[in-house]
This record gives sequence, C-alpha cells and structure tokens, in this order.
Amino acid sequence: MAQALNIVIVGGGSAGWMSAAAFARALPSGRYRITLIESDEIGTVGVGEATLPHIKTFNDQLGIDEAQFMRETRATFKLGIEFRDWGEPGDRYIHPFGVFGEPWGGVDFQHHWLRARQLGQQVAPFQEYSYAIAACRRNAFEFPHQDRKSVRASYAYAYHFDAGLYADFLRRWAIGRGVRRIEGLVRDISLSESGAIESLTLQSGAHIEGDLFVDCTGFRSLLLGAKLGVPWEDWSQWLPCDRAWAVPCERGAEFTPYTRSTAQTGGWIWRIPLQHRTGNGYVFSSHFISDEQARDVLLGQLDGAPLGEPRLLRFKPGRRVRAWIRNCVAIGLASGFLEPLESTSIFLIQAAVSDLLRLMPSPERGRAVDPRLADEFNRLSDIQYARVRDFLILHYFANRRHGEPLWDYVRSVPIPDTLTHKISLFLGRGHVPYYKDGLFSRDSWLAVLFGQGLMPRAYDRLADNVSAEQVEQLMRWLHQAIASNAAAMPPHTDFVARYCAGVRADAAVMS
Ligand SMILES: Cc1cc2nc3c(=O)[nH]c(=O)nc-3n(C[C@H](O)[C@H](O)[C@H](O)COP(=O)(O)OP(=O)(O)OC[C@H]3O[C@@H](n4cnc5c(N)ncnc54)[C@H](O)[C@@H]3O)c2cc1C
Repeated sequence: MAQALNIVIVGGGSAGWMSAAAFARALPSGRYRITLIESDEIGTVGVGEATLPHIKTFNDQLGIDEAQFMRETRATFKLGIEFRDWGEPGDRYIHPFGVFGEPWGGVDFQHHWLRARQLGQQVAPFQEYSYAIAACRRNAFEFPHQDRKSVRASYAYAYHFDAGLYADFLRRWAIGRGVRRIEGLVRDISLSESGAIESLTLQSGAHIEGDLFVDCTGFRSLLLGAKLGVPWEDWSQWLPCDRAWAVPCERGAEFTPYTRSTAQTGGWIWRIPLQHRTGNGYVFSSHFISDEQARDVLLGQLDGAPLGEPRLLRFKPGRRVRAWIRNCVAIGLASGFLEPLESTSIFLIQAAVSDLLRLMPSPERGRAVDPRLADEFNRLSDIQYARVRDFLILHYFANRRHGEPLWDYVRSVPIPDTLTHKISLFLGRGHVPYYKDGLFSRDSWLAVLFGQGLMPRAYDRLADNVSAEQVEQLMRWLHQAIASNAAAMPPHTDFVARYCAGVRADAAVMS
C-alpha cells in the first residue's frame, strides 16, 4: 500500500478548522491523513468577524451552501469598510470591494477624473463613482449582476459573521469528511536529531506522531515560535496599537452592509453588524490611552445594551520571520498578526492554506520535507504580510489629526520604502502599482489614498487622447447609472432576511 502523510494540525480556531476543511477537500484521502488537536481548556481568540471577498471563494470551493452558512453563522453581507474621522475629525470615506469607474481609452478612471477636475468640469466626489459605495450609502444589497459589463457587476462582497459559529460550522464539515479530532492540551513536543517535529505529548499522556505539523495555536505559536524558536519581527513602530477591548451589544436600527471603523484619540473603534447582535471593539495603543479610558469610550459608543463584559485582548503587531521551517508550518495568529483594521487575518489564513496545498510535501519523503517548498511558501508569505503592512500603515501615516499624540506620532515615523514609493507615485502622477500576488487591488489603494485626503498633482497624459467633451459625457452618464441602479436595490435587512429564509437569490433581488 502507498505511504500516507500524517498531517497534524494543532489548534481549533478559524486557522485550524479552515486548514482542516481545505485539506480534507483537496487532498486524496488515501495519501494524506488529517488530525486536528484542540483544547477546550484554552479556547480560541473568539474575535474575527469581518472578512474580505476571498472568503466566498473559500466557502464555494468547499461546496458550502451560502444561505445555510449565513443562517448558521448569523452572517450579514459586507461591501466594504467605512472610515470615519481618519483623515481628520468629520471626514468619512468608504473602502469598497469594487472598482471606481471604468478605464476609457485604456487609461484608468482616476486619471480621467483628475483631468476633468483640472479642466474645471463639474465632477462629483471620487467616491460617487463606485457602485458598491452607492449601495453602502443606501444600506442596500443585491448580488453582483451576471452581465459583467453592467455597473451592477462592478463589485464583490464578503461577510460579517460570528467567528465562533464559523469555526463550529467548519468543524462539523471537516469531521464529516474524515478529519480526526482530538480534544486535549499539548504539553510536550519531541524533535528528531535533524530538528524535525516527531510527536506531541498531550496532558492525558497520549502521544501523537506526525509527518507535517501545522501550528494553529494562535498567539502562543507553540510549535513554530515556542519550540522551534523562530523569532518574531516586531512592526509596532508603524502600527502602534497593541490592545483591544471587544464587546457585543444588542443590534441597533442601522443594519449596514459594511464594517465601520471610527478613529479615536487612542486608536479606532470597529462596529460589525450581525443578524443577532453588533460586534464592537476599541483597538488602541497602550502608550497613548489607559485600558480603563479605552473601555469607557467603547461602552459609550454602542448601538444598544452590551451583551456581557468587555474582553481585553493583547497583541504585538508583526510576524514570525519564517512561517515554515523543516516539517512545521504556522498558519493564522501563530504566524503573525498586524491588527484588525481592513480585516486581513482570515484572508491571510486562506492565502497560507492555498499556498500550502499547492506546495504540499509528497507522502514518500515523510518528515524529510523538501526545503525548497518551505522557501517558496516563505517567499509568498513575506509578500502577503508586507503588502498588508504597507496598506495599513497608509491609514495611520496619512492623517491630519494634528495635536493628538498618537496621530502626531504615526505621521512622523519613517515609513517603509515600498510605501514611500507608492505614495509618491500617486501624488506625482495618479498612478497606483498593480500586483500579481497579494492584497490590495488598485481600487482599494485609490479608496484610501483619496479617502485620507491625498490628491495627485498630475495625471497620466494618455488621458488627453479622450476628448474633453467625451470625458464630461462619460462622467455624467456613469454617475447617473450608478445613482439610478443603486436606488432600485433592496434594503440589506430585507435581503438578508429573505435569503436566509430560503427565498431564491434572484427572487430576493427582483422583489
Ligand atoms: C482584536 C482582534 C480583532 C480581530 N478582528 C478580525 C477581523 O475582523 N477579521 C479577521 O479576518 N481577523 C480578525 N482578527 C484575527 C482573527 O481573530 C484570527 O486570525 C482568527 O480568529 C484565527 O485565529 P487562530 O485560529 O490563529 O487562533 P485562535 O483562535 O487563538 O485558536 C488557537 C487554537 O489553538 C489551541 N491551542 C493553543 N494552545 C494549545 C495547546 N497547548 N494544546 C492544544 N491546543 C492549543 C486553542 O485551543 C485554539 O483552538 C482579530 C484579532 C484580534 C486580536
């Protein structure tokens, strides 16, 4: 009989169960055996309710029924994130999961918009050329249209969900497809002479042997960090928030199809609407505000009565310098955490899971994993983390909240060269670099660059090939098309209620 590779996942939070479910779906069962160990005693971090659109692909690949998933995780739709008071107090903008305008004459939309302004034409604010933003402003939702050329197809969507219920959902799904679950606390880790992990000893005394170990133990990073000693790279000089109070509250009247992030003196507050409650948290820097003050500010800004006591979470922004060494790969918080702004952690789990699947060691070599696979995984992981890091820093760095110590500090700190390049390219020519790998897209960068109040001095001269009259007409037409179509969208509340009740998606849209 052909040899099988024993994969042992340690940790049953979102990272552990997303890994287990994806492995169970993709790997041939005769060649790979999957075991997951989780400890009821320790529990999960229990937050992580806002996602990016990639999560839909993940669920679709597992063959999960969307309406059932939404019912069971009490999910709502998410079209983007609204940033309040981030540029300066009173500012508002949305980072949508969709595009701004469309390219004309092969030139990106922002150049035409900049040119139209410079020509003195009547142009609406940049944000008004996004269909996803128009939907957010109306608290409306519908599925993207089938006709890819329609403005109604110019966006994607993600979810807000209950993280604990999502892990439960995936646990049931994965166990149903052959994943072996062991409840127990890992007490000891044995290494071979070559430094590879051989087995784990549980509190009960049981020994679990494996070939490939996936560390999903959260901030503890029990295998990769604590046992194998892979160092942590600290990014707190750029991202100074290191704590968060989290508390759910009763659902308020406003049922937004977007997450809200409101800047505060000591950090920012998230608001995430679910079907049965609203998730809230104050992410703050302990150097600039005390725990007690942050807690009071958060409790003063809830939509409804708190459902329980606020929980304090501590973290250090950064990541392990290598996510994979020898036969151990860390996924989730065990490999890194920047901060919850822009909801990137679950995406980073998903990206790591799909990279690991592509680079999965073959069963024949057992524990002697080919180091080239690890090198490639680490290269991809470096790209992902660096891209997210730069995007997050932009929100802090490009602020105009003068006279507030946290915000003055983040404006003054030298930023990574990669981010300096992006900002200066944008300011000089309105350009935003495209990426083949990693987050975020051009339109995401545009949303935040313009949203934080940065304005390019010039535009791509190729835009001059489109006549001024034509640009004026196209701008007017697009603005009108977005406004009139968005006005016909159903309210988000109704859409969620009908969809979860089993009303067909197209019927939910048409009614
Ligand atoms: C304040 C805050 C807000 C966040 N908001 C978002 C968000 O909106 N969107 C987003 O995408 N992400 C968010 N995240 C990140 C998100 O919560 C995590 O990425 C996600 O939950 C995955 O966590 P995890 O599975 O890596 O770790 P955990 O949930 O901590 O799970 C760790 C697992 O390891 C097990 N374990 C640990 N030690 C042992 C041991 N010795 N033996 C056996 N088992 C063990 C535990 O029992 C548990 O099952 C947020 C994080 C924080 C801190």
